Amino acid sequence: MENLFADCNLCPRRCGADRTSGRTGFCRMPDYPLVNLIKLHFGEEPVISGRNGSGTVFFEGCSLGCVYCQNYTISRGPTGRGTRMDEQSLAEAYLRLQEQGAHNINLVTPMHFAPVVAGSVALAKDSGLTVPVAVNCSGYDLVPTLKLFDGLVDIYMPDMKYFSPKYSSEYSHAPDYFQVCCSAIDEMVRQTGDIVLGDDGLIKKGVIVRHLILPGGLFDSKHIIDYLTSRYGNRIFISLMSQYTPMPSCTGRLKERPSERSCGILADYLASAGQTNAFIQEYESSGKEMIPDFLT
Ligand code: SF4
Repeated sequence: MENLFADCNLCPRRCGADRTSGRTGFCRMPDYPLVNLIKLHFGEEPVISGRNGSGTVFFEGCSLGCVYCQNYTISRGPTGRGTRMDEQSLAEAYLRLQEQGAHNINLVTPMHFAPVVAGSVALAKDSGLTVPVAVNCSGYDLVPTLKLFDGLVDIYMPDMKYFSPKYSSEYSHAPDYFQVCCSAIDEMVRQTGDIVLGDDGLIKKGVIVRHLILPGGLFDSKHIIDYLTSRYGNRIFISLMSQYTPMPSCTGRLKERPSERSCGILADYLASAGQTNAFIQEYESSGKEMIPDFLT
């Protein structure tokens, strides 16, 4: 079977790095998953976290690399504190989270390890994993890589961060972000179908698209709301997040939080589009409080 790490084109960076020989690409990650933290997490949308929490696995590294990343301590390369895992050990971790009462398994930023992670989900499902499996990702994802998860993932939680190439270039070095993200979300919706909620009110299948409101990004955010509501309407959840918190390295307008007024305008805009499957985060929510205690 082809080793997809050998000439790595797993994400839109298409570095072609031979990760099997110790080389790395933009994501700076080896050819095996590094996991920083595994925990029951309560900071997601209510349909994910529920009462018991979401069984969350935080992978190190990221192929998008936003300059304002709130998880920057683990997203910018190996921390040296992560645990090397394989299909078997990941599957066992998911089963332990299920035993602890997790409502779902929540795989955070796994795409640069997709072949192993997909294998681990298949193994876990064969070994008794029954709770839904969610992939939580940047939206800067390639369709062929997403297809590795087809039939294995029940819920996708992609970001849709930018409409304008100006912002996606400046903040994430990804001028093609919007086009890539549109194709990725189409594929995710194709895989999961429309939202399915259980009797417990928690999501069992479907897509939750998250949009983090950035300072000064009002018009970009409106374009994204327009796009998502016109293309999918209530087939998906839209989660509008106002938790943006400047990180120490942020410069320019990224040093400020988005204003409460602009967050309110966007919440009204989303409601006026007729979107009832929506989450609107409280303005008081702080990104710092949402950051787990990563090993760094
Ligand atoms: S997953 Fe990493 S090495 Fe592979 S193409 Fe993307 S950034 Fe490059």
